[in-house]
Amino acid sequence: MTEPHNNIYDNKSPRPHRLVILGGGESGVGAAILGKTKGMDVFLSDSGNLSPRYAEELRRRDIPFEEGGHTEALILNADEVVKSPGIPPTAPMMVKIAEKGIPVISEIELGGRYTDARMVCITGSNGKTTTTMLIHHILTEAGVDAALAGNVGRSLAWQVAEDPHEVYVVELSSFQLENMYDFRADIAVIMNITPDHLDRYDYKMENYVRAKFRILQNQRPTDAFIFWEDDPVIQRQLEKVVTEARRFPFAEHPGAGISAWLDANGHMIIETPDEEIDIPRADLALHGLHNLFNSMAAGLSASLLDIRKEDIRRALCDFEGVPHRLENAGTIDGIRWINDSKATNVNSCWYALESMPASHSTVLILGGKDKGNDYSEILPLVRRKVKAIVAMGKDNAKILDYFGKEAPEIPVRDTHSLEDAVTACRSLASDGDTVLLSPCCASFDLFKSYEDRGDRFKAAVAALRP
Ligand code: ADP
Repeated sequence: MTEPHNNIYDNKSPRPHRLVILGGGESGVGAAILGKTKGMDVFLSDSGNLSPRYAEELRRRDIPFEEGGHTEALILNADEVVKSPGIPPTAPMMVKIAEKGIPVISEIELGGRYTDARMVCITGSNGKTTTTMLIHHILTEAGVDAALAGNVGRSLAWQVAEDPHEVYVVELSSFQLENMYDFRADIAVIMNITPDHLDRYDYKMENYVRAKFRILQNQRPTDAFIFWEDDPVIQRQLEKVVTEARRFPFAEHPGAGISAWLDANGHMIIETPDEEIDIPRADLALHGLHNLFNSMAAGLSASLLDIRKEDIRRALCDFEGVPHRLENAGTIDGIRWINDSKATNVNSCWYALESMPASHSTVLILGGKDKGNDYSEILPLVRRKVKAIVAMGKDNAKILDYFGKEAPEIPVRDTHSLEDAVTACRSLASDGDTVLLSPCCASFDLFKSYEDRGDRFKAAVAALRP
């Protein structure tokens, strides 16, 4: 499934390869530094402003750049363009680059060309960061020289240029995968695929699925592909895709060919050709079905990297979690507050609710910038577990309408700020209840980012302490 890509940097060329980088964030600056290290003619252009730290990093290395706009003449003379994953292919400058036939790659593709380190790559609609951090935690605890890259951690290209490691654990979004061609993952993980970001894929699910599956391209028979067996989208795509990699599916229940599962005694079992690991589910650091899957994917990856099972077991049980993912924000007057601000789609909220107690003891904060949500997916869990909903957004009409109609027995409060939402939750919840911020929506209507939303939530909860 490798696509032709015929403009790899040619060492024999008389003039240096001109590498233009669009976007001056962590990945763009990293790509510029690697390009410069390799003797390329590098230029970085950002339509907005660079943070002072990144501008300084470029100046220090004599790398030319511009900010606050793009100069066409300095961009369209590129031999190759590195595009930040945040820039859509429909952006005017990207259209011009495509018209000129200039190859466009991602920073990960560039970094991958200059290292022989082992690559463990994780993609999926939900669970990427948690699984990536878990794998990194297991490897570093076991004494492996492993670094984070991709969406979490530092730029891969930057590390390859100035601070190389033996293993990289790389979180890949579909946006990054779109511009990857020759990169090869030693271990590729696809957690799950549910509709997300469809606005970037002409609202065609197949385009999004195809982008995710690029993680398998170039894999060899000795490489590994780890995936969730019960995902219908993955299964359907696997019928179409040819991959030589060894397959290691994980699932909730045992079955033929399954490499990780939960046994009848409630133990997580991981089985690879060289190792069998058995860990009581209750001992795992991360709770909930989704985190069981994340632990399975991480345990399988580590086992395939020959990490000893004692090290895997210890690390899966002492992991401290990732901020904003079902993060404990404190218990006050017997009410447990949970920050799951990273749940920016309905599917991740489903998993958060799934891990809540069965009784009607959860007050759920929903709302924000809706990406075309279909709330019917969480309706059965809401009916079973939720005591009240607090809508928190600029415009809550869709949430008020939907739950007002489908679950009229559940009270829904309409709030437009974090402070009002927390006050409403405080009055709706009582001793033994849980308040869950798992909003199903992006944060940009009221907050800078999901981190800002989660941090302010935690601060507001802390302020409730007597
Ligand atoms: P990503 O990096 O893919 O956005 P995260 O690990 O940051 O994923 O988790 C985001 C949210 O998705 C979490 O708050 C949790 O509610 C949910 N989630 C985590 N892991 C999974 C999984 N394996 N399947 C479905 N949902 C998950």
